[in-house]
Amino acid sequence: MSRLVVISNRVALPKQTQTGGLASAMNAALQERGGLWFGWSGNIGKESGTELHEVTERNISYATIDLSRKDHDEYYAGFANRALWPLFHYRGDLVDYRRDHMEGYFRVNAVFADNVARLIQPNDTIWVQDYHLIPLAQLLRDRGVRNRIGFFLHTPLPAAGLMITLPRHRELFESLASYDLVGLHTHRDLRALEDYFLHELGAAMRTGGRIRAANGRLFRAGVFPISIDTAEVVELAHRTEDTGDVARLRHSLDGRELIIGVDRLDYSKGLPQRFEAFARLLRDNEEMRRRVSFLQIAPPSRSEVPEYRQIRRDLERSAGHINGQFAEPDWVPIRYVNKSYPQKMLAGYFRVARVGLVTPLRDGMNLVAKEYIACQDPKDPGVLVLSRFAGAAQELGAALLVNPNDLDDVAEALKRALDMSLKERRQRWDASMEVLENNDITRWRNAFLEALMHPARNASDLATTAPAETIS
Ligand code: UDP
Repeated sequence: MSRLVVISNRVALPKQTQTGGLASAMNAALQERGGLWFGWSGNIGKESGTELHEVTERNISYATIDLSRKDHDEYYAGFANRALWPLFHYRGDLVDYRRDHMEGYFRVNAVFADNVARLIQPNDTIWVQDYHLIPLAQLLRDRGVRNRIGFFLHTPLPAAGLMITLPRHRELFESLASYDLVGLHTHRDLRALEDYFLHELGAAMRTGGRIRAANGRLFRAGVFPISIDTAEVVELAHRTEDTGDVARLRHSLDGRELIIGVDRLDYSKGLPQRFEAFARLLRDNEEMRRRVSFLQIAPPSRSEVPEYRQIRRDLERSAGHINGQFAEPDWVPIRYVNKSYPQKMLAGYFRVARVGLVTPLRDGMNLVAKEYIACQDPKDPGVLVLSRFAGAAQELGAALLVNPNDLDDVAEALKRALDMSLKERRQRWDASMEVLENNDITRWRNAFLEALMHPARNASDLATTAPAETIS
């Protein structure tokens, strides 16, 4: 079995607390084959990439580099998070394109390539993660790397009509052809990639998900929806169910139903619209006022980016306004919490909640939606209200699917979820849970690595899931 080399912006080092399924999935894949994980250390140094920090634990080496302040600001805070992130989440209005940021992005990718090229062995399989590192394969090829290289995009890929609004977009997106395999979450993302390559770059479709780029290079693209460690999340919810924290939350509800939302504080998550939709539920259904509480957990993220500070201010105002309008001395409609919680505690909270409210305006996948389902009590499951524009909607067609821009639609879905019979809740939950039992995080990483290592497979193997049927 060939050694695996994972390259991502950040690396989950062995002694650090592991956050999220992706870190453990990468570690499991690395353990299986032995390998190397390379990325930014998270530290700012005098110069980028002049010193390699290496740690080895059993058969995995972790290698990280520092970045200079200027490189960090232009590559990470600048081009990646103020141009690509908003563009990929359909927020063309928030794209802050600057030439020096784009140059910084290519410069840091070249620093990554210089460092990684020295560490690669001839039989290694390389797996690059996410939008920070799109040009990396091309830069590695320029340095003579001939290994098999895969890329997975964890965000959505927007429609070709939006991709072309990025100045010098060809320079960036054409470099995707230097990978052997490009993985995306959904069929919609794949259509966007094919459309862009065919109509903007003069590429041609070949059989088996292959695309022949204008420069003659042949690469493949496929759909690999990321998932959670389903068995582990089910177990977590069981174990936390009776702990003090969860009991306190349950007690505080005083017999009311709980609606829960858990999202990084990010403008892609549709939080202002979600608050307004909840207010509309209360406005239009007086009987709901004392029947429900809405808990929104929203840990701050990327606070070095101004748009993130702005959304935080907007939400504080909105929660204050709605609570001021509807609260009673013994009831607060929105509990808005700007803190992050360990996954085991969230698992217990999800189990208590009658409704999981997940309404991003755009999301690559949205793992919270999947976690909410996995945490339910099979005998008395809650209902997931899910945005059509989250990648998870492709598989979770048994959730109540909503358009997050349509406040009435979301408010009606909330009411329907709160009034839903046990029979219907069970039917919807069973269908959703079956999807998560079939497609968990292990299946995701194996499917991608199999497709990368066995390029002879035909196109149908490049989609691990067909779009799920919806239940109306
Ligand atoms: N999460 C967490 N603590 C929090 C909030 C979120 O551990 O306080 C986890 C959550 O359980 C999920 C992940 O962070 O596993 C968020 O992933 P998702 O795909 O929903 O959104 P992203 O933040 O990647 O856009």
